[in-house]
Amino acid sequence: MSYSGRREVIPKGVESLKEAIRMIEQAGRVFALTGAGVSTLCGIPDFRTDTSGIWERFEQLKIFDIDVFRREPHLFYEFAREYIYTMKYVKPGAAHLFLAELERRGMLCGVATQNIDGLHQAAGSKVVFELHGSPRSSHCILCGRRYSQEDTEERLKNVPYPSCDCGGLIKPDVIFYGELLPEKTLRGAIEEAMSCALLLVLGTSLVVYPAASIPQIALSSGARVLIFNKTPTPFDDEAAIIIREDLKDVCEFLLDYLYSKNGR
Ligand SMILES: [Zn+2]
Repeated sequence: MSYSGRREVIPKGVESLKEAIRMIEQAGRVFALTGAGVSTLCGIPDFRTDTSGIWERFEQLKIFDIDVFRREPHLFYEFAREYIYTMKYVKPGAAHLFLAELERRGMLCGVATQNIDGLHQAAGSKVVFELHGSPRSSHCILCGRRYSQEDTEERLKNVPYPSCDCGGLIKPDVIFYGELLPEKTLRGAIEEAMSCALLLVLGTSLVVYPAASIPQIALSSGARVLIFNKTPTPFDDEAAIIIREDLKDVCEFLLDYLYSKNGR
């Protein structure tokens, strides 16, 4: 999937964008951090700030609470049927494609994301640190048997929640409130943040940990940080460039810029 031709509408702040791409080209080791803002472009609601009414129907704190999940797993699975297991039908957006293209060209060493939708991988990114886990695999909380998302969904048919052959509850490998963060993933992302020369932050306001620690680590390791986010973040004062324009316009522009400069 790609964009063709020069864009007719060039985003405001185009000079900042050219400066951003110049920095990306010259930085050497570039790492990226993404949040819900890259996926809302694709129609996936921001589970933290969504105002479309999801949280009038579902109690967010309960759905993703590990103790509630163990007691009343149907609450999570009712939500998952509608909002999580449908994410596989969503196509990656401009931000996902831009990062995948950077990686394909050897200009990006990987991306850490707060999202659980798998859209970076769908766009072609290979090195993805999913800080909040992923629903694409699950496991039995009793015997530990692993399940694919497909198997989990199969076992969810016509029942309120999926069970293992041993009778144990099947839990997706998404990180719930009250659970430890995925240590290996987090360590991998932190190592990249420490060794990169430039960190791109896209579509996150950097208020949720552990994601918020990534720019902190990058900055204290001497990296520069570029922020593409429509609202202010706690790191704006320390960022080399802040771009608040519409993320879709910005990433389409950057993609076209890459194509026009270096071919496909
Ligand atoms: Zn089991």
